[in-house]
Amino acid sequence: MSDIRVRFAPSPTGQIHIGNIRTALFNYLFAKKNNGTFILRIEDTDRERSTNEFEEVIHREMDWLGLEWDEGVKVGGDHGPYRQMERLDIYQEYVDELLDKDLAYYCYCTPEELDEMREEQRQQGQPPRYTGKCRCLGQDEKDKLEAEGRKPVVRFKVPKEEKELIVDDLIRGRVSFSSEVIDDFVIVKSDGIPTYNFAVVVDDYLMKISHVIRGEDHLSNTPKQQLLYEALGWKSPRFAHLSMILGTDKSKLSKRSGEAYVYVSEYRKKGYLPEALINFLSLLGWSPEDEEEILNKEDIIKQFSIERVNKSAAVFDVEKLNWMNGMYIRAAELDQIVELAKPYILEAGYDLSDKSEEWIGLLVDTVRGSLDYLAEITDHLDIFFGELEYTDKEKVVEDFKQDKVDIVFETLKDNILALETLDPQEIKKMLKKTLKELPVGGRLFYHPTRFALTGKGSGPELYNVIALLGKEECANRLDKALSLR
Ligand code: GLU
Repeated sequence: MSDIRVRFAPSPTGQIHIGNIRTALFNYLFAKKNNGTFILRIEDTDRERSTNEFEEVIHREMDWLGLEWDEGVKVGGDHGPYRQMERLDIYQEYVDELLDKDLAYYCYCTPEELDEMREEQRQQGQPPRYTGKCRCLGQDEKDKLEAEGRKPVVRFKVPKEEKELIVDDLIRGRVSFSSEVIDDFVIVKSDGIPTYNFAVVVDDYLMKISHVIRGEDHLSNTPKQQLLYEALGWKSPRFAHLSMILGTDKSKLSKRSGEAYVYVSEYRKKGYLPEALINFLSLLGWSPEDEEEILNKEDIIKQFSIERVNKSAAVFDVEKLNWMNGMYIRAAELDQIVELAKPYILEAGYDLSDKSEEWIGLLVDTVRGSLDYLAEITDHLDIFFGELEYTDKEKVVEDFKQDKVDIVFETLKDNILALETLDPQEIKKMLKKTLKELPVGGRLFYHPTRFALTGKGSGPELYNVIALLGKEECANRLDKALSLR
């Protein structure tokens, strides 16, 4: 193992957003590429919104995608605990240190007082920020305020002198912030729980994180965190902020993006393959040197580098994902696709109880070529189950009534009934032979036959259809077609 240590630090407050899992993936890839350690830390200090169930969601989606972590919740490690709420006494130690060094202070301002402060600033055309009112309270004043029952927060003393704060970002280069825009921010809330900006610094330092790779939405937090590293006398990790993911309409990928789902669980439920989603997500902001698009996890790890991560926003193109997923569905082992497809088939009410595994395998293989994701399989099954229905009966009957189509159906029926095996390759040969015997061309053979057997004008290969329907059912359907002439 190298000294490269990265972490994914989600808050268990909801379903995992696709942007968050891309962050997890890039951390994972960076760790694997560099023989480093990938850590899962749970940031559960938002007591109202964090739940165990949502932590389970994180484990489940990461397991599903094969993003195993080397250290962290569940698996343990030398730098735990890995849930922030189990680390409160650790944070306290460093809060005390900052208080002792006069680099932090208790603030007793009530929410109403803070509102008033901001209102005044607004009226004077100033940006709203904490004025530092409680910076220099004497012990008497503190005692008095505490006697009133006020519960203080702890604020970090942002150095007063105005200076430029530079975040040296691995993706964005040097990003400059003025310390003027940073006020004395809260590091411990009045309930004693540290805020994100404080806890994250203590954890990243103690967990020896070498690179913090996270979403661009955290870029403005980074100068605050750097000030804390400085105050505590710690060397800060390297930072890399990944750009946002946008929908094809260039708006932020949110619940309202319409075409694209925003939660990982939705892709899992629709039957996207984890391998395809990993491939697709890896290309959101990163690209390999040779621009190859279909890459398995090992290929991606081999080629991944932060230098090739793009700082412009990545566009989530669902059509591309669908195309890619379709490729993976077609290329996967049939057994794997059958196992994954079965629940959708059963859920839609199709009865498989009297079907052999071989038949189910052929069914899935026959239709998988048309699928973008597995839930779509149920759109392609009606022709193989129950009564035949013609999509456009008038048109179908017109087709059946063409000259010589009766000979086509009679001959084909005889040849189907004479089949010794339902092996699709044998059926394919039989179809070719039948066409040769007939006094018609290919169009007058295949088109009416497809209508007669499937009720539709297009669909899967006829030899597979015949194999799946079986001799009797094919004969019945051809008889039915003949009766409509
Ligand atoms: N809990 C934070 C989040 O989910 C982590 C941010 C970070 O990686 O520092 O956004």
